Amino acid sequence: MLLLANKEAWPGFPTTVQMLREGAISLDAMVAGISKVESEVRVRSVGYGGWPNMLGNMELDGAVMDGNTRDVGTVGAVPNTLPVARLAHEVMKRLPHVMLTGDGARRFASEIGFSEDDVLFEDSKRVWWERLEKELSPEELAKFPDIPLAPLSRTITDPERVRDTTVFLSADPTRGIHAATSTSGWAWKYPGRLGDSPIPGAGFYADSRYGAAACTHTGEMTMRCSTARTVVLALKFGYSLSDAVKLAVEELNELSSGFLAGVVIHAVDAKGNHEVVNFRCEGEIRYWLWEDSMPEPELRAAKQA
Ligand code: ASP
Repeated sequence: MLLLANKEAWPGFPTTVQMLREGAISLDAMVAGISKVESEVRVRSVGYGGWPNMLGNMELDGAVMDGNTRDVGTVGAVPNTLPVARLAHEVMKRLPHVMLTGDGARRFASEIGFSEDDVLFEDSKRVWWERLEKELSPEELAKFPDIPLAPLSRTITDPERVRDTTVFLSADPTRGIHAATSTSGWAWKYPGRLGDSPIPGAGFYADSRYGAAACTHTGEMTMRCSTARTVVLALKFGYSLSDAVKLAVEELNELSSGFLAGVVIHAVDAKGNHEVVNFRCEGEIRYWLWEDSMPEPELRAAKQA
């Protein structure tokens, strides 16, 4: 058994480990762990601690993928709702669809008993408004939000906050290989923007026959390259895990237009290997790893691409 998650997973990783040790279904264990990450305000990129869109509204994304069946559930740009990875899991279990977004996702959440809550954390609201006050003229501020937002989409987005989702991958010879994600997305994104975290093949992919991958950071790149699917397809074609991740990195590296920044690829294979590779993100990237031979989870450093 192996469990891999990025550094932001700390509030929920031990819960998932404990549940897996006790024999839980892998996706149930990962969703339970991610729900804890989503409610922890010190994680400033996921759930309640995350950042709002340009209008100051929280729009959360989450996903699950069962690698045994390749069933997927995802939700995108969901207002006023937590926990969204669990909502995505319910989409997978209860609907003939793969993805719900916005008001439809919120309606489904109400139908199945999720409460409707303002999930904008006070401090996120303060930072968002201070940023707007710096960017907008007094006339624009007086009219806000009835101003064109597109001109702001390049300037208002603080690149330092363009980072991190929480991603969990698990691999077990009997339970299979699975993926789950959750994020508040890019801080001050244009309303309705989806990143890669709810997009199967881009932000996550799992196939118990071969492996799984999940990405953090610049969804605008991984959506263009189908990064997570690239890793798993390369495994199917016989690449080693490290060569599969290298191939996905090469694809990202060949992009030369559009919004270009860093990506971290997390990947596992069906042989029990794992790889976490940092492509162009500044600073040290770390991740959580637990294997059933380990008494405790370990925080390790990602490789540089
Ligand atoms: N990949 C996520 C997105 O593009 C955010 C992140 O991981 O920084 O929404």
